[in-house]
Amino acid sequence: MKSPVHRCRDPEHGRGEHGRGDHGRAECRQESRAGYLQAEQRIPISKDIITSSSASAMWFIRDACGIVCAVITWMLVLYAEFVVVFVMLLPSKNLTYSLINGVVFNSLAFLALASHFRAMCTDPGAVPKGNATKEYIESLQLKPGQVVYKCPKCCSIKPDRAHHCSVCKRCIRKMDHHCPWVNNCVGENNQKYFVLFTMYIALISLHSLTMVVFHFLYCFEDDWTKCSSFSPPATVILLILLCFEALLFLIFTSVMFGTQVHSICTDETGIERLKGETGKWDKVPCWEAMQAACGGPFSLSWCSPFSGLRCERRPLEALEEVPQGEIIEEDIIEIPLY
Ligand SMILES: [Zn+2]
Ligand SMILES: [Zn+2]
Repeated sequence: MKSPVHRCRDPEHGRGEHGRGDHGRAECRQESRAGYLQAEQRIPISKDIITSSSASAMWFIRDACGIVCAVITWMLVLYAEFVVVFVMLLPSKNLTYSLINGVVFNSLAFLALASHFRAMCTDPGAVPKGNATKEYIESLQLKPGQVVYKCPKCCSIKPDRAHHCSVCKRCIRKMDHHCPWVNNCVGENNQKYFVLFTMYIALISLHSLTMVVFHFLYCFEDDWTKCSSFSPPATVILLILLCFEALLFLIFTSVMFGTQVHSICTDETGIERLKGETGKWDKVPCWEAMQAACGGPFSLSWCSPFSGLRCERRPLEALEEVPQGEIIEEDIIEIPLY
């Protein structure tokens, strides 16, 4: 391999087109000489060269705000569960109605919580920390014209389309956004679980909203005392609170679900749209992108939070490996054309 050449320091990204670092880029242009690359000539290293750090290890972000939000999410689902089962279904005289709705609601709620757990405890695609060493870059055997960007915050080699998350304190491949409700980043490896989570929450919200409407209609015609095992005022308050919660989360999660599916279909993450970085890579067709995000050809497993993704997994010993050598000082390393 040709020895890497230090070009310039660009504390944010070094991509050269937007964001901060204008001063650094000006210096870069002045330094440009024959044989070295202009910013637009640089080929960022493919996102597939660097694998995720811990695809098979347990992943959990120790962020107090995220943990509180995740606990609130579970409490809200359990509240809905309580009202649906104990206020509406168990006191109902129609056994078939209670049984069918009970099974459907509980199955959807279970899938929602399972998706939440998988989204929270799956490595979203973190780049190994501290691998920005000369030895590691040499091992990548890069071609002339390729450029390596170092993340100055976590000292990792940033593959194309990776972004640094200040909450996770890591660079995440195809990071979409950091979601406090799942206390994790939504990235390449856990987007499916996040999409499923929003879908199942939207479905249980819609289902419980329908049941509340039916319950009110039924109870208005009947005697309120026979309608619920709770007192009429308590029943009304519990139902109104559920109604409010369901409506709020139905709107919120439907919008989120739509946005995520749109992101997958257009092969653009939320953060890329926000930073105006779109159109810098070869876009994958919609159906292909959906298959990649959902872990294979269309099947029922797309709706299952238990089926894994076909992402690269490495043995646990490899995860413990500490990158050899000292961290490079430069934020951009480029392989000269000659
Ligand atoms: Zn980073
Ligand atoms: Zn994050």
